[in-house]
Amino acid sequence: MKLYAPSTINEIKEKHGFQLSKSLGQNFLTDKNTIDRIIEASQIGKGDLVVEIGPGIGVLTAEAARYAGRVVAVEIDRNLIPILEETLKDYDNVTIINQDVLKTDITEIVNENRQKGGVRIIGNLPYYITTPIIMKLLEDQVPADSITVMMQKEVADRIKAEPGSRTYGAISAAVQYYCQVNQVASVPKEVFFPRPKVDSAVLRLDVRKERPVELVDESMFFLCVRAGFGQRRKTLLNSLTGAAGLSRDAVREILSTAGIQPSRRAETLSLQELASIANKMTEYKLNHQE
Ligand code: SAM
Repeated sequence: MKLYAPSTINEIKEKHGFQLSKSLGQNFLTDKNTIDRIIEASQIGKGDLVVEIGPGIGVLTAEAARYAGRVVAVEIDRNLIPILEETLKDYDNVTIINQDVLKTDITEIVNENRQKGGVRIIGNLPYYITTPIIMKLLEDQVPADSITVMMQKEVADRIKAEPGSRTYGAISAAVQYYCQVNQVASVPKEVFFPRPKVDSAVLRLDVRKERPVELVDESMFFLCVRAGFGQRRKTLLNSLTGAAGLSRDAVREILSTAGIQPSRRAETLSLQELASIANKMTEYKLNHQE
């Protein structure tokens, strides 16, 4: 049986009385080449643990199970659980967890299921929560080696954008701080069932072993990113005033010691420049404590 074939999805729908949920972002993959590209790009080895987000009817899960030591898949839709039990019955190295991934402790899953090798996170992400899922994985510092995920092309473009480009924003700076970003495939909307309105792309985020910039206080960096890009059309002097309780004069002084023109905008800043501002902010706060 070709699990990914639209006819199989229809058979499953009929047999289990399953209705696809638009609000859960259920656009299932129907193309073997795309499935193979994702699995290949995720570089799964026999000793690896794979954590999959949103297995659907299990097309990626089954393929990952052939290469990995163990696969744990987190699926929110309880109506898919009996279906997954059936489609994955031939694999004894797969566990399905019926939970909302945003409320799941992935680090605990990793610690409980880790094999001898690496940890790979994969998924064809539900589009309505792509950014929150990626940010949660990174901010929780989930002990994974890589995150290979499909998302809307537009989000992928923002994540991989370079400073100075129109699409460079908070998500680009945040993801690039934690990961080396690689685009591994462009995926047309025609390969999904049902067909979404937009095209997709697969990114592999290789989680950095060492941070690319030195920060005195990581939380100040993220505060600076949020404030700077939150009002991206404003100059840094305007967007950072008020951040961390800093006055306009304080921001002027911080930018001057960081060697950054106050008239610049956040979207032009490299990671290194953002880090310099954040470190000067931390220093300023320490020197001006009541
Ligand atoms: N992996 C399958 C495929 O490629 O055909 C399905 C991908 S579909 C785009 C996204 C999947 O994520 C659906 O199965 C959906 O039910 C599930 N999902 C949606 N929100 C979720 C959440 N908060 N936590 C876990 N899974 C979720």
